[in-house]
Amino acid sequence: MAKITADLHKCQGYANCVVTDPDTFDLDDDGKVMLVRAHVAAADLARADEAVRSCPAAALMLDTSRS
Ligand code: SF4
Repeated sequence: MAKITADLHKCQGYANCVVTDPDTFDLDDDGKVMLVRAHVAAADLARADEAVRSCPAAALMLDTSRS
């Protein structure tokens, strides 16, 4: 399991994360990222990691040391 966190102050609503991994990320009514799930299983980690890296605003963090 890995834990995802989002910095809403950095998020600019580009939605790259939503396009890459809609099972983990969504946008709220204000156009800010919303976590569909905060914990990602090992099987889904590669896609979540790709989504985190796709964020142009560096608003997402993936911590694989926590559950
Ligand atoms: S890719 Fe980054 S800036 Fe865009 S919605 Fe996701 S968290 Fe926000």
